[in-house]
Amino acid sequence: MQKMQLTGMTLNEIKQETERFEFPGYAAREIALWIYRRGASDFEVMSNLSMKARAQLSEHFDTGLTSFTKVDISSDGTKKYLFPAQHGRFIETAYIPDKKRHTLCISSQVGCKMGCLFCMTGKQGFQGHLNSGDILNQILSLPERNLLTNLVFMGMGEPFDNTDEVLKALEIITSDYGLAFSPRKITVSTVGLIPGMKRFIRETRCQLAISLHSPFDEERSMLMPVENIYPIRKVIEEVKKYEFGKQRRISFEYIVFKGINDTERHVNQLARLLNGIKCRINLIKFHPIPGTPLEAVSPDALMEFRDKLDKKGIVTTIRASRGEDIFAACGLLSTKEMVKRKEKEVL
Ligand code: SF4
Repeated sequence: MQKMQLTGMTLNEIKQETERFEFPGYAAREIALWIYRRGASDFEVMSNLSMKARAQLSEHFDTGLTSFTKVDISSDGTKKYLFPAQHGRFIETAYIPDKKRHTLCISSQVGCKMGCLFCMTGKQGFQGHLNSGDILNQILSLPERNLLTNLVFMGMGEPFDNTDEVLKALEIITSDYGLAFSPRKITVSTVGLIPGMKRFIRETRCQLAISLHSPFDEERSMLMPVENIYPIRKVIEEVKKYEFGKQRRISFEYIVFKGINDTERHVNQLARLLNGIKCRINLIKFHPIPGTPLEAVSPDALMEFRDKLDKKGIVTTIRASRGEDIFAACGLLSTKEMVKRKEKEVL
């Protein structure tokens, strides 16, 4: 009989699954704390549970924590981990240390359906959703987990195409029985899938980032096919219904492509589009990927674009490029690993 995986279960779910064993009332919370707070991958270390309880847990459950299989380390200290997920798949998780800030970039799916023109994961196509256990394992099995100060859901996949599992993982990450992480230090980035985004805004207190990349419909749909289903105008209309500001931030991600979305016209249209929202634009340097005609702008052009947006009254920052030597193409490492494993299976 296959053992049930505990990582990824909420406190209520752990209670429900363990109540048939007549554990004392406090046991479910202790199990959650052992796994989520102390990273216990073995029931034997759960010293405040009886030997009988530990034996029953070992017989019927698995903590579900799995170590990484590969790590690439950049010259600037950024690390890209490859974690196994269910069904023989792999996901990438990036650890980005920067002075006092230690950020983990988490994946929410294996591959992605959104097909953004500038993204290697999009080219990989969709291979499956991650469950809340796979999402949490990226944090819990990270060697640097105790150093983490910020979490961003900006890895492989579109979080709101997997809303149930992402929201469940966020509940566990922010709960006192779980990782007790501040929602202010967690950012979830979306291309703008409105139904999932609405649930996220209502059900969590985490920060929201929206991938914008162009304020013009036709141009955005060329870069991001999702524009044809959820146009950015509608996404912005939706977020205007909620309160964002210092307590809860909203930001817009904008990869600057040479000769495509970097003109004065774009600056003016961005100012019109975002008028009335307390937000920030994060400009991102494009890292070219194989098979796209898109090009990056120069560092000077990036700063010039930022200054023009600033003059329009939009707080604009340039995201520091980190781990360039290992992030040549996000999504490539996991694709390679899967192909390698499949080849081995065939031989
Ligand atoms: Fe998916 Fe994000 Fe890549 Fe777009 S940028 S294809 S949403 S992973």
